[in-house]
This record gives sequence, C-alpha cells and structure tokens, in this order.
Amino acid sequence: MKKGLIIAIDGPAGSGKSTVAKLVAERLGYLYIDTGAMYRGITYKALREGLDLEDEKALVKLAGNTSLALKKSNDNLEVYVDDRKVTEEIRAPQVTNSVSYLARLPGVRERMVKLQREMGRGGGVVLEGRDIGTVVFPTADYKFYLDASLEERSRRRFRELIAKGYKVNLKEVEKEVKIRDREDRSRKVGPLKVAGGAIVIDSTGMSIEEEVEAVLKYIMK
Ligand code: C5P
Repeated sequence: MKKGLIIAIDGPAGSGKSTVAKLVAERLGYLYIDTGAMYRGITYKALREGLDLEDEKALVKLAGNTSLALKKSNDNLEVYVDDRKVTEEIRAPQVTNSVSYLARLPGVRERMVKLQREMGRGGGVVLEGRDIGTVVFPTADYKFYLDASLEERSRRRFRELIAKGYKVNLKEVEKEVKIRDREDRSRKVGPLKVAGGAIVIDSTGMSIEEEVEAVLKYIMK
C-alpha cells in the first residue's frame, strides 16, 4: 500500500458510510473528513440565525462567512462552526430535515468543495459524503459507494436517533430518509450517484465490521 492515499466514500443516508469511513481512517492512521457535517454546520447556523431557507443569496453569503473545522478528540470527530462546538446540535432532526435545501445551492457547494479539497489534497485521508468520488476528488485512489435497502437504512437511522434520546418512530424516519435521498439524488449540482470507477458495496445484512473489512480488502491488497 503506498502512503498518503485519498479514499472517497459516498452513499445515501444510513448506508453506514460515516461509521465505516471513521473506522477505516483509524485502521490506516488517516484523517477522517465527514463532509456531511460541514453541510450540517452551515444549516445549523442558518437555522439559528433564522434565515429564510429559500433565500439563496443570504445562504451562499452565510456559507462564505462561516468558519468550519473538524477536530479529532479521542474517538470522536468534533465539529466547530465559528469556533463553537456543535457536534451534537448538527444531528438534530430539524437540521437533518433542512440540510438538503442548502446542499442543493451551487454557491454553497462551491465553497464546501473548495474547503474539502484543501483539507484532503495532502492525502492520508478518508472523505465521506455524496459527491466525493464524482466532484471533490474524482481522481481519488479508491472510490467506494456504500448502499443498503431503504428499510435497513431507515432502521439504522432510527436506532441512532433513539440512542441519542430523540422521540421518533420508524415510519417517520423512513419517510425522512426517502425524501432526503430523493433530494440528494435529483439536485443539479453534485447529486448523489455512483462515481465512475467506484466499488459498490451493498451492506444490507452486513455488520459494520464486515463493511469495514470489505472496504479494507481493496485498499490493503
Ligand atoms: O452524511 P450526512 O447524512 O450527515 O449528510 C447530510 C446532508 O448533507 C446530506 O443529506 C446531503 O444533503 C448533504 N451532503 C452533500 N454532499 C456531501 C455530504 C453531505 O450534499 N458531500
């Protein structure tokens, strides 16, 4: 294995890509970059400031004026928006349900893609998101696309939310996952799709450890 690889992992909500990307990065001693957390950070700030989610100009301006940082602390990736730690807040259902609105705006994506390229260009990174293999690093050393059935992805999200203390029901979560998938797949700029040359892994029925092994098998050979 040569040093300093760029590894791209894309996939829909609940495909297990965050956990897998984090564990793969740990196993390789690489930096883990959760690009969804960056879109969530901007969304969190927009909601906090009471911005109109239809006001494209204001949202793009906000994205340009916001500092975003991902910092590793023990086993966690802490997310900072303008130096304020928002790791937990950005996972709230309100942010989840609004994030695709911001993520569809070309001006917002332009800024995020630029930041992500700066963070990853030195190599030794695992970037995880929706457009890493297609837009951010189309020439990444390895590209993966993780998927699973809608039912399984919804169950995973449901368990995650319950564990965090949110009161949700499975049907609602399934609806949210379905809507977000549709929005992420249908936007004009940086839509979710399988990148050319990506290795597709369907994780339905697989444990996280099996997913991690499936990814590492390609990289370590
Ligand atoms: O991965 P996560 O579910 O945290 O991503 C939240 C949202 O951020 C996605 O639903 C998508 O709208 C947006 N996103 C994106 N491009 C990425 C990563 C996330 O548009 N590279």
